[in-house]
This record gives sequence, C-alpha cells and structure tokens, in this order.
Amino acid sequence: MKILKTAEALLKEHALCDYCLGRQFALLAHGLTNQERGKVMKLLLTLEGDRLALEGSEEGTNLLITVARKGFSNLALKTLENKGITVKTEERCHLCENNFNKIKELMEKTVEKLAEYEYKTFLVGITVPPGIENREDELRAKFNIKWGENIRNELSREIGRQIVSITQKTVDYKKPDVLIIINPFTDNISLNVRPLFIAGRYRKLVRGIPQSKWICKKCEGVGCTHCKGTGKMYPESVEELIAAPLLEMTEGTDTRFHAAGREDIDARVLGSGRPFIIEVKKPKTRNIKLRIFRKKMTQTAEGKVEVSKLRIVSKEKLKKVKTEEKVDKVYRVVVEFEKKISDEDLKQLKEGLTDSLIRQLTPSRVLHRRVDKMRKRRIFKVKVKRLKPRLVEMLIRCQGGLYIKELISGDQGRTDPNVSSLVDTSAKCVEIDVMGVKI
Ligand SMILES: [Zn+2]
Ligand SMILES: [Zn+2]
Repeated sequence: MKILKTAEALLKEHALCDYCLGRQFALLAHGLTNQERGKVMKLLLTLEGDRLALEGSEEGTNLLITVARKGFSNLALKTLENKGITVKTEERCHLCENNFNKIKELMEKTVEKLAEYEYKTFLVGITVPPGIENREDELRAKFNIKWGENIRNELSREIGRQIVSITQKTVDYKKPDVLIIINPFTDNISLNVRPLFIAGRYRKLVRGIPQSKWICKKCEGVGCTHCKGTGKMYPESVEELIAAPLLEMTEGTDTRFHAAGREDIDARVLGSGRPFIIEVKKPKTRNIKLRIFRKKMTQTAEGKVEVSKLRIVSKEKLKKVKTEEKVDKVYRVVVEFEKKISDEDLKQLKEGLTDSLIRQLTPSRVLHRRVDKMRKRRIFKVKVKRLKPRLVEMLIRCQGGLYIKELISGDQGRTDPNVSSLVDTSAKCVEIDVMGVKI
C-alpha cells in the first residue's frame, strides 16, 4: 500500500485538508474529486490506525492522532474519543490555508457579480500567492509524488463546476464572454468581460468633425479655458457620435474606434462610407438590436454622421479593417488656382496624373509628429471639371493613403508630380470628400 504509506507520511509532515491531500493523487482513479480521494485515504488510515490500536500497538493510536490533528478528520476524532482520548486539530491546511472551505462562498459572490452581465460562456482563472505553489512543489519533490494536480487547476474546476450548476452557463476555454479571475487567498474576484466588436461603414456628411475624440493639447483632457472646460479640441467626433447610443444600449464602460484610415477634419466621407469597427468595453448587454442602434444613432447625430452595414464581429476582424486602408479610394476635391485655368491646363492635369506614380515625403503639416519618409502611391484615374475660371473640381481614384492636400499644393516640392506644378501656378484644396471606391 504505497499510496496509503505516502498519505500517512504527508500527514505526519503537514496538516492537509481533504482537497489538498487528495490532490497529491489526482491522476489516480478516474471519476473522483480530490476531496473524495482525500476523504477515502483518511478513512482507510483511520481503519488501519484503529486496527493497530485494538491490537495494542501504540503506533495505531499515534496514526489516529495524526489523522485527527493534521487531517482534520472527524472520524478519527470520534474514534479517539471513544477511547477516551481528546485531541485538538491544527488550525490551517499547510497548502490551501483552508481556502477550499470557501469555495461555495466565493462561487456565490461570483454569481452575484456575474448577474449584472449578459453572457453565455465563462472561464474561471485562479491566482494564488507564489509561495503557495512553491510549497506544494517542495512537498512533491520530498515525497516523490508524480500523480498530483496544480492547485489553481483544481480551484478553477471546482468553482467553475458550481457556477455551471447554478447559472446553467457553459465553460469556454478559448473565447469566454467573461473571464473570472479569483484569488481565494485575498477573496478578490474580478470579471474580465470580453469586449463587443461592431463593424460597419460610416459616412460623414458635414465638415469640421474629427474622426476620433481629440484631447485638448493645452490641458490634456482635464479641462481649461482653451477648451472651455470640455478637455477636447472639438465638441464632437465621428467616434463619439457613434459611441454614445451604443454605450447607452450596452451599458459598456468605454469605446475604442478602429477605422480603415482617417480623413482630415474638413473632409467629408461620402459614397459607400469608410469601414470601421467600434469596440465596446465591458458591455453588460451583448445582444443588442443593430437596427435599433442605427435608428438611435441617426437621431442623435442629427444627420452629421450615418452608419450602415452594421454587424457584430470577432476581434480578429480588427486586423482586417486596418488593412482596408490600403484599398483604392476615390476623392472629390475642389481646387482653387492662382491663375485662370485654360482647357489646355485641364488636359495637362488629366494626362499628367492619370496612371501616374506619386512620390510623397511626409507632409510638412504632420512632420512634427511623424517620421520623414518617402511614400509612393498610384493614381489610376482623374476626372476634371471647371466650376469657375479659377476653380476646378477633380475626381481622383488612387491607392489608399495618398495625401490629397499635398498632391494639390505640392507641399513645396515634397510631393511629385503635383497639381500645382502641372499647371505652373499655386493651387489650394478648398474642399475634400472621400467618396468610396468607384468613380
Ligand atoms: Zn487544503
Ligand atoms: Zn483644455
């Protein structure tokens, strides 16, 4: 009975509760909990101790005392009492410090916290002080134990199983809606709620709104006279207009906005719109009706921003939306020239830019925050139309990422070729719209 001998030796060394004794033999016999393993061993040791004691062996009484004191065994206590011997049990399990006794209580607190959230799947993760696992490792090394299980594993499984029985939700090891982190030693329970990702396209129908919230440069968001106490450079943004009704519907704590590129504040986004994904942190409600969200958004944004093609997506789609920036784009621009534009000039523009490769150094307007490097983007097609003698509307189909304003002005020669040099006069972009993907 090597196993019983080992169990006896373990108990002689340290006080161990049923769970912690049983866990040292977790890989032996299928279909038992560690608590049951521990209980059975203490039962067998009590039987053996009593047998020896009845045969008059002092060793037997000592074994009963060990199982009672260090194994917290009621059975051993009663057996000893029957012989007129009373012993006092030790106070704490050497490994779990009696925290396995709190499983039910921890589970109940967790279920209470979970009740605030809508979720289908969960996973319990356990943290324990580092000393605890070291203690168990040392014990196993000393007694050459090869059938043990990790304490965090057992706690996670036991608490998880009880949560399932109360909530009827499912454990998901890969992508749980809620990851529950419990530290039974400090009673800390925290919920890591998987964010909600909603993809769609937005159209920005007015100028003067930035894509994302722009924190005030002077006060860094605290609020000052420069930003009239708002902490922001602009009162609203595409992100905030989309986020507001979404936060209300999901009761999330915050949002993050991911878009396929960004337009300037003074550019509209028309046509089929720009792809985006909005991430809602800690949503309490996950199953929202996107149709209702869209309706609410349309009301609150008062026609400044519209959304379409809404769908709930997985986190993996984030990478894709970022690469969509590289997709071809169509811009509509209105250019103001210093001189009157002739038919010959219009021809120059059209022929000079269609099927051309534009070489751009980082625009001087963003040079203070970006590295100076060469960017090459292709223009596929250009359409031109004179609106007034010095005013021309251009439709430009090009690779995503082309700096349009610099294409017009030339940025002191940093963009080549450019609209200004093609007609040999200075040119300025006065209106810019992102149109979608087709001319
Ligand atoms: Zn224990
Ligand atoms: Zn400010």
